[in-house]
Amino acid sequence: MSDIKTVAVLGTGVLGSQIAFQTAYSGFDVIAYDIDDKALEAAKDRFQRLVATYKAEVPGAARGKADETLSRLTLTTDLAEAAKADLIIEAIPEILSVKQETYQKLAELAPAETIFATNSSTLLPSDLAASTGRPDRFLALHFANRVWKFNTGEVMGTPETDPAVFDQIVRFAGDIGMVPIPIHKEKAGYVLNTLLVPLLNAAMGLAGGGYAEVEDIDWTWRIATGAPMGPFQILDMIGLTTPYNILTHGPSGDPKIAAWLKENYIDKGKLGVATGEGFYKYA
Ligand code: NAD
Repeated sequence: MSDIKTVAVLGTGVLGSQIAFQTAYSGFDVIAYDIDDKALEAAKDRFQRLVATYKAEVPGAARGKADETLSRLTLTTDLAEAAKADLIIEAIPEILSVKQETYQKLAELAPAETIFATNSSTLLPSDLAASTGRPDRFLALHFANRVWKFNTGEVMGTPETDPAVFDQIVRFAGDIGMVPIPIHKEKAGYVLNTLLVPLLNAAMGLAGGGYAEVEDIDWTWRIATGAPMGPFQILDMIGLTTPYNILTHGPSGDPKIAAWLKENYIDKGKLGVATGEGFYKYA
């Protein structure tokens, strides 16, 4: 166990709502913070939908455990309330200045011993450490979308992170049902995206470059490696907007393939599973 009793999650969007719910589901009292009442209303809807999802997809959740989870979740627009938690997990928009400003405000409100963790996918914790006022008690705890199912918890500090805090967050990740993945040095993309982004880009390069059909590329990957999903099935599940942004702005970008993706899929509203069609059609 990690000695952490109360947890606050900043941001109740796609990932923040899942992190808050999963943490409360695991028995912790959770304060979920967002900027205004409108965002909190949306959060209530997300939590209700998560109750239904857990009942359908998490073994045992339908026997009262998913419903009970709501009683451990408190919603607030008061950052000072959130600052009372032992651990604060930040899942606000992926905009450096917004995160830095939020950490600066939080640094003044939270006691010195409070641990801060960012769920940022593309920023390094070093980009944010100075704003936290406690670089030794700050690190990344990175979740994957649909935390109840894809339950990795990648833990990555900066050179300034106290090793005892790092170990505590590794234990905490386990306490909330994640498989902790300790990362020993800072690495953009953590483990998952360091592996996944080149695979997805290569697959789109093959299809967009006219080398092979989407379905055949997926078949190749599944048959030859035993993987359950091919790269285009994964892309459809992620949604095509983020991969498009990575191809357009990322260090491994490719303007030709980005244009292919835009013209054939994005401009036609084929954004993946969420819109009913991407590379494949969904019922
Ligand atoms: P999102 O846009 O769905 O949610 C962001 C939430 O933050 C919204 O509820 C918004 O109202 C709130 N917010 C905006 N400004 C805020 C502020 N100043 N303080 C507090 N809350 C504020 O975003 P998301 O997809 O949940 O991503 C959040 C973070 O999680 C990002 O850092 C992202 O990189 C990371 N992440 C996302 C995914 C994913 O698949 N979506 C996966 C792993 C990590």
